[in-house]
Amino acid sequence: MADLVNEFSWSRSRDATFQDCRRKYYLHYYGSWGGWDAGSAPDVRRLYVLKQLASRQMWAGRIVHDAIEMALHIYQQGREVPVEPFLEDVIERMRGEWRGSRDGLYREKPKTLALFEHEYAVDLKREAWQMLSQNVKTCLRNFFRLPLLGDVRKTAPEHWSIEHWSKVFDFEGTPVWIAPDFGFWNDAGRLTLVDWKTGASDADATAFQLGCYALYARDVLGVEPAKVDLLEANLREPTVTPLAWDDARLGEIREQLRLSIRAMRAYLMAPDANQARMEDFERTEELRICRWCNFKAVCRPEVP
Ligand code: SF4
Repeated sequence: MADLVNEFSWSRSRDATFQDCRRKYYLHYYGSWGGWDAGSAPDVRRLYVLKQLASRQMWAGRIVHDAIEMALHIYQQGREVPVEPFLEDVIERMRGEWRGSRDGLYREKPKTLALFEHEYAVDLKREAWQMLSQNVKTCLRNFFRLPLLGDVRKTAPEHWSIEHWSKVFDFEGTPVWIAPDFGFWNDAGRLTLVDWKTGASDADATAFQLGCYALYARDVLGVEPAKVDLLEANLREPTVTPLAWDDARLGEIREQLRLSIRAMRAYLMAPDANQARMEDFERTEELRICRWCNFKAVCRPEVP
């Protein structure tokens, strides 16, 4: 098999990491490259293991997204979801993943759950974990009660996109990873793209995220903004908020993407070969970011 090549691409999470801290960005996307191989250099392997760490809130969000995907698949096959037994299954899986993380399984198998709280021995009371599973249940119960789900189920399941029509597309020569959490065509011929949220909403971040979905609709599916509805479904509240949208906003998103790509590439030693040097990526001065950074053990071990 040919060697994997570290090719430059863009994603929302990559942009967020770059905004947080340049050094973190380097360690995540360059320093840890190749660490999936258990025989790689120990420092690279360590970075790769640290890169996989997820906070408990991120984990809970992923669990909810996976469960929704599974439920939609069941509906797509014309079957019903028995909500409470379904939730019990989800929580049981969470317990299994949690135990694996607590036991450090991820150090041998980095693709299994690796909780930041376990790696950094964050002292959390039992109630904090129980609250987390309660939040997962609340989000999922809210999902099953959403009028939006009723609307979705009235449409033809073959017009749903659960695992996305495509995840990566070319944006002016750069592969861009953008895909909505869920999409469907309603009976009036409009495309609805949905972002499931399980935490607090950040208006700017949401506008950019949904804007990226509109770009996806335009460039991947060929659907004009006027025919697209963008929804943020906050499952904690629960609320479903539409984002006002038009062609001008799409232009702004394109410009935001261009700027982000340009800024990232400007840090590279050899942009065309996507080669980077650690010393070119400065460490943030904001220690509050370091406190919750996956890489603090190797970058700023003095930060508590
Ligand atoms: S510990 Fe701080 S400076 Fe180092 S990579 Fe993380 S956020 Fe950046």
